[in-house]
Amino acid sequence: MNYQQYFPVDVVNGPGTRATLFVSGCEHQCRGCYNQSTWSPAAGHLFDAAMVEQIITDLQDTRIVRRGLSLSGGDPLYPQNVAQILALVKRVKHECPDKDIWLWSGYRLDELSTVQRQVLHYVDVLVDGKFEQSLADPSLRFRGSSNQVIHHFKQ
Ligand code: SF4
Repeated sequence: MNYQQYFPVDVVNGPGTRATLFVSGCEHQCRGCYNQSTWSPAAGHLFDAAMVEQIITDLQDTRIVRRGLSLSGGDPLYPQNVAQILALVKRVKHECPDKDIWLWSGYRLDELSTVQRQVLHYVDVLVDGKFEQSLADPSLRFRGSSNQVIHHFKQ
């Protein structure tokens, strides 16, 4: 898996102060997408073991306390990304159990394969669905268009 950008401190993508990873790879081709540079799975930088350690270290940092991790893109549930995303969310929940995980995907919840759904066992909140330009609304919180749904799996 490749990633486009990593923000160790982010207050925009999800609630509170967070660490945010934008992965590469997306097949949805939404009209009006802001992140077209992330569509190619070969774009960006290799998501290697050092990046995983960086994310865990940032989430465990007691000087800048993060509420959790946000995973966006691109699409974290792009089929080629699922194995590494699954390994990442497992580690985060094991080593940073007090942190929440938000994940944005262009797939709707009811479209997910069995393999993609495995990731959701470790995710607190899924924001699902393609970006629909005709339903775009800048007043929406944490989503770009009104067809997208925020699913809270854990309270
Ligand atoms: S799912 Fe997101 S990254 Fe993918 S095309 Fe749609 S808006 Fe762009």
